[in-house]
Amino acid sequence: MESRIKVKKMDDGVWLLDDNGESSGYLVCGEKKAAVIDTMNGIDDVHAVVREITDLPLMVINTHGHCDHICGNIYFDCDCFLHPDDTELAHEHTSFPEFKKFCSERNLKMPPFKAIHDGDVIDLGGLTLEIILLPGHTLGSICLLLKEKRILFTGDGINQHLWMQLDTSLPLKVFLKNLDKISWVKEKADKILHGHTREFVDISLFDDLRSGIKQIIETGGKGSTEYKWFGGISKQFPFDSKGSVICFSEDKL
Ligand SMILES: [Zn+2]
Repeated sequence: MESRIKVKKMDDGVWLLDDNGESSGYLVCGEKKAAVIDTMNGIDDVHAVVREITDLPLMVINTHGHCDHICGNIYFDCDCFLHPDDTELAHEHTSFPEFKKFCSERNLKMPPFKAIHDGDVIDLGGLTLEIILLPGHTLGSICLLLKEKRILFTGDGINQHLWMQLDTSLPLKVFLKNLDKISWVKEKADKILHGHTREFVDISLFDDLRSGIKQIIETGGKGSTEYKWFGGISKQFPFDSKGSVICFSEDKL
């Protein structure tokens, strides 16, 4: 059967792993080691896909604890890193009965998480990833800066359909401050690869998103429309000309 996971080479040593258009993970191969950034939904064997590309020793780094970014960890026996502020969330997101049944039928289980922290630097040999904490979408959301290629992996922390309406998301005012704390990264990166894209996005997304957040705070979200999702009804605010939106809850500005 054809795999759900489609591979796309983005640059020398950088591949995008597209899980059926639902979420995206990445493989970054240095000279000595390779990092898998997010393992997506876990329905197809992402480890096997990665092993068709590289034989290097692997590590998994999860951008945050949501199930569409971590469930594929079940196929890996290497170290899997997550910011500790998302460990509880990750536990919750891997405790859904359907996923537990899926794992037990295949004799697979989630490997334990190891902690990764803001400022940690991972040397893959000729390529370096720096961990940048960006609490907002979730408490322990991280970005990863691939310094040599000037690429910023943002998970769901900065994307074109930002979910801030979740119970576990921070108020927009706090998120705005956190974005400003890491504004230095705009000088270090030209492009973004986020957790739900299939192509490079210009780093200008950072500023576009920031000004959208600011507008929502200042106007109470004037110009936003209803947003229906599986958790209920919240609001969505368009923040650029390309149809990008910030989803938010009016009681958490
Ligand atoms: Zn998420």
